[in-house]
Amino acid sequence: MAREIAVLGAGMVGVSIAYHLARRGHRVVLVDRKPPGHETSYGNAGLIQREAVSPHPFPRQLAEIWRVLPNRSIDIRYQSKAMLENMSALWTYWRYSAPQRLARIIPEYASLIMHCTAEHERMFEVAGAAELIHKDGWLELYRSAEIMDKRLPVADSHRERFGVTYQALDTAGVAAIEPDLVQPMAGAIHWTNTWSVSDPAALVGRYADAFKAAGGEIVQAAATRLDKTGAGWTLATDGAMIEAEQCVLATGPWSSEWLKRLNLQMPFFVMRGYHMHYGAQPGRQLRYALMDYERGYLLTPKRAGIRLTTGAELNSLAAPPRGGQLDAAEAAARELFPLAERLEDTPWKGARPCLGDMKPVIGAAPDRPGLWFAFGHGHQGFTLGPATGRLIGEMIDGESPYIDPLPFSPARFS
Ligand SMILES: Cc1cc2nc3c(=O)[nH]c(=O)nc-3n(C[C@H](O)[C@H](O)[C@H](O)COP(=O)(O)OP(=O)(O)OC[C@H]3O[C@@H](n4cnc5c(N)ncnc54)[C@H](O)[C@@H]3O)c2cc1C
Repeated sequence: MAREIAVLGAGMVGVSIAYHLARRGHRVVLVDRKPPGHETSYGNAGLIQREAVSPHPFPRQLAEIWRVLPNRSIDIRYQSKAMLENMSALWTYWRYSAPQRLARIIPEYASLIMHCTAEHERMFEVAGAAELIHKDGWLELYRSAEIMDKRLPVADSHRERFGVTYQALDTAGVAAIEPDLVQPMAGAIHWTNTWSVSDPAALVGRYADAFKAAGGEIVQAAATRLDKTGAGWTLATDGAMIEAEQCVLATGPWSSEWLKRLNLQMPFFVMRGYHMHYGAQPGRQLRYALMDYERGYLLTPKRAGIRLTTGAELNSLAAPPRGGQLDAAEAAARELFPLAERLEDTPWKGARPCLGDMKPVIGAAPDRPGLWFAFGHGHQGFTLGPATGRLIGEMIDGESPYIDPLPFSPARFS
């Protein structure tokens, strides 16, 4: 058999896995219907989120639920039909979001997040992509001092427990480093060991080039089936049949299709999101990636313009785009920063691949020797690709993994 390992999905996760496996000396083919980094890993906010040690729980406090229920908030919207379709996965999400369970999940999630910047750095040094990375952190902006005061003890705890670094800024401190804001802010948490990427798709592309330089092969084709054949796996595509001894599914938001085909059940759902690029008004500049914490969207300076990314929309993957969330985020963003015109006709739409217990699935597929899973990285897949790639590489080679992989085991839902 010519190829040892086929990786399906060339987003940040699949490309990072393919890179690690090729650099370990395996003969690897990376398969995607699009060029590397052209789906979810294209349109995200491009933050490598060292501070994101706690995943996003389901809103459980009554006040939160009342706020979200009218379906007009910027940070989260839902489509009732999709809520019903995903009832079982969302029930799991609700249960795992209970405070005691979340408290157990946070250190598990953090065990992977804590390696995100170091693992990216190892890759972007080899890929010659350092100029795409900005190591100046990002700003969590507060309109109200009261809300910021409630958030600071959480930041303190994450600093003590997980090595997150931050600086608390007052009104003058924010104005000093981000002088072109429209109105004074009550303050900000400046997360200082998080990085931001000026062109997320270009970074994935550079990692894919580094994979090819390590001997990897890229096939652009849509996969339709995966079958166990003899000693390996056969991926049927709209082009060639691809045979390999082992196969890794890194199919991001499309992973539920593959779980169905494999007759496996996991509490999987997607949280959609949108982006749009804007110019800045003459003489104005956005220096940092920033989040309007009380509204729930991000503005990040990108090569293509100022990228506004929305919060989560609980909807099915294939449903048509809905404009309201982006429009509302844009209106709030214009109160904050002097955005100029939209730079594209149509907003970009993508979907965060999520699991009910808020952790990705990384490891050997249950009862299917030679098949591996690496999906469900939710709000932090761009951050976690390289850390996941290293973990899968070590597991496939039977080495002792650099972190405990058990919390991410695909068998945990069986
Ligand atoms: C608005 C928004 C903002 C975000 N901001 C951030 C951020 O700042 N930081 C962060 O860390 N994360 C962020 N995320 C999350 C992050 O983008 C995702 O978690 C991550 O991109 C997922 O990567 P992936 O490789 O798993 O999936 P993808 O990038 O979607 O890759 C999956 C690939 O599989 C391929 N594929 C699937 N099925 C098939 C098939 N049958 N045949 C061939 N190819 C197939 C697809 O074409 C695709 O290229 C954000 C997400 C959104 C929506």
